[in-house]
This record gives sequence, C-alpha cells and structure tokens, in this order.
Amino acid sequence: MPFPIRTCVVCHEEFELHPDKPGFANRCPSCSEPESTEPAAANAPDVFDPKAEREVNAARRRAIRDLLYRKDS
Ligand SMILES: [Zn+2]
Repeated sequence: MPFPIRTCVVCHEEFELHPDKPGFANRCPSCSEPESTEPAAANAPDVFDPKAEREVNAARRRAIRDLLYRKDS
C-alpha cells in the first residue's frame, strides 16, 4: 500500500506521509525534527576566567617577592 505523497511546507521537498510519522503532517521528516542543536554550554555561566586567574597569580607572586625582599633587607 503506497503512502500519500505530500510536499513539505518548509523545504518544498516531496515526502511520503507515513501514518506513524512524528511531527507535522505537512512537513518532511527532517523539517519535523525539533530545532535543538544549540549547545548547552552556550548558556552555561562563565565560571572560569583564565585572565582573572592570571592576574590573581601575578598579584600573589608580587606579594611573595615583596615578602622575600623585606626579609633580606
Ligand atoms: Zn522539509
């Protein structure tokens, strides 16, 4: 039994309308897929800042150097 041929309203490609096809009846299978390709990391808060850590390390090194110089003199 042949499936009815429909034209996708999104990409205008003809496709067979299967009875168990998920999504819209007037969209081809590829256009029926949910558009959730955005990576989850894009919404994650920026917890690690390499520049900030470098500044902290530089400040720490400076403090240690000041301590050593003070001890020597
Ligand atoms: Zn389509």
